Amino acid sequence: MTQIKDMKDIVALCKRRGFIFAASDIYGGINGFWDFGPLGTELKNNLRDRWWKDMVLCPPIGPDGTPVEIVGVDSAIIQNPKCWEASGHVGGFNDPMVDCKESKKRYRADHLIVYLPKSYDPEMDGALLFPCFDKDETPEDVEKRLKKLNLRSDISQYEVISFVDIKTWAYTNPNDDYGISHPKNYCEQYKIDELVRIPDSHKILRDRIIGPDTKTVGTLGEPRMFNMMFHSYAGAAAGEENKVYLRPETCAGIFLNFKNVVDSSRVKVPFGIAQIGKAFRNEVTPRNFIFRSREFEQMELEWFCEEKDVPMWFDFWVEQRKRFWESVGVPLNKLHFLDVPKEELAHYSSRTIDFEYQFPFSGEGYDELEGIAHRGNFDLTQHQEFSKTKLEYMDPQDPKNRYLPHVIEPSSGLTRGVLALLSEAYTVDDSRPSGVYMNFTPEMAPKKAAILPLTAKDDHVPLAQKLYLELREEFVVDLDIKQNIGKRYARQDEIGTPYCFTIDNDTINDQTVTVRERNTMAQERIHMDKVKEFLHEKMRAGASALKKAA
Ligand code: ATP
Repeated sequence: MTQIKDMKDIVALCKRRGFIFAASDIYGGINGFWDFGPLGTELKNNLRDRWWKDMVLCPPIGPDGTPVEIVGVDSAIIQNPKCWEASGHVGGFNDPMVDCKESKKRYRADHLIVYLPKSYDPEMDGALLFPCFDKDETPEDVEKRLKKLNLRSDISQYEVISFVDIKTWAYTNPNDDYGISHPKNYCEQYKIDELVRIPDSHKILRDRIIGPDTKTVGTLGEPRMFNMMFHSYAGAAAGEENKVYLRPETCAGIFLNFKNVVDSSRVKVPFGIAQIGKAFRNEVTPRNFIFRSREFEQMELEWFCEEKDVPMWFDFWVEQRKRFWESVGVPLNKLHFLDVPKEELAHYSSRTIDFEYQFPFSGEGYDELEGIAHRGNFDLTQHQEFSKTKLEYMDPQDPKNRYLPHVIEPSSGLTRGVLALLSEAYTVDDSRPSGVYMNFTPEMAPKKAAILPLTAKDDHVPLAQKLYLELREEFVVDLDIKQNIGKRYARQDEIGTPYCFTIDNDTINDQTVTVRERNTMAQERIHMDKVKEFLHEKMRAGASALKKAA
């Protein structure tokens, strides 16, 4: 039976045990920003290091049987602002937002949905009210609020339409009663011509929509386009000429260094450049814990190849990325692979597959964890044009053959990856004192083992200390001396430590320790000298090292 995991419980455990805290917690937090605590930092580093290892240090074997070639870079967060003009971010990195004048809240206009009674007749029901909700609201919460608003609470009686469709429909009929005007770029974004098909029953007056956090009608304003790049000023003068942007994605720093890397290293097409680092987006509505934040980390590979080889490499990277997520503890049956429909592709992409994970807040659906895009040679073409620097690659076999390679980009969120690991690991188990354990793979677990002297007296402690000092040279381990052993096991279960080594009187006699496995809680004895080897073996065994709890 699939267990229902509640995001609230995961967030609470993260705070209680030191995985993730609200940024500026003591000041009441700051929306969209998070701090990683001691365990969260280890978990994030484990995922990051594994990605780097798989991409740069030990890249996969290519279709021709030889290892592929990938190098890493670590570029500046702030680049010449022209870079963002070339990439299209200054002109087009926009989300539609809408403000509520009563609640003072700001919403992503395209995330709002309006509940329209199925029986609605525009001629007869002139006084009806139309409640508006966030699309992620659960059916239970929707019903609760409908009741509070004294509206029919059975949601099967409603049809759901997107707020943006209503608004844009209105634009297509500027001369009728419902006409409202929109900025031109907004209409272009929503392909205004296509919206005339919205049926007559949707002729809803904006003034009869109740915003998501109010009881009053007509408080939502016009959707406006909003550029999501954070900006600042480099240097003392805060004028337009000194305006700079915090990067909204890490890949730009790779494209900007394409020529430097080709000129300074021995890479030959096909090859890849990888980067891990912070990205910043002024998201209109940060939400779902660290899923959508304003500061986050990405792990991006730009794979440069010849155009004719794109299909082969695209399939290759999709397979590699599936294996990666599976090996770090995200099973394939929890992922959904969305071949993004043509009309929803980013302007530069002719094919994208999104890896979507069923996060606890996704309900029956899935939300994006990683995207694999064929970006063509859009980026290199743009940067070549805007920088007026030749970026063509010269074929070493045929110097007359100069071209801008095509790019396949597996782009994943490190922060979202951590959330997927946390969500996947969270396991309710009423039979144990902690009531829950974190089922991380040994490789991803923040602490690989805990060393627990049975009692804080006798000779247990010096032996435990000796083992601890030996192990910590190679593994992140915990030495926990105080409290009764049950409480200490419970704490390790909650932070997902896969193995506990207990030192007791027998250890003094025969140098053996008890190993307790987290999932099964089964115990066996091994010699102290074998502990290091035992852990190495478990780390190597990866995702399959731990037995499933009965
Ligand atoms: P979304 O549709 O969820 O906004 P996106 O399609 O804009 O994501 P990309 O631009 O493709 O995302 O970025 C690549 C990856 O970066 C995403 O798959 C995701 O894992 C991560 N990412 C993007 N935006 C955020 C964010 N605001 N917070 C955390 N991670 C993010």
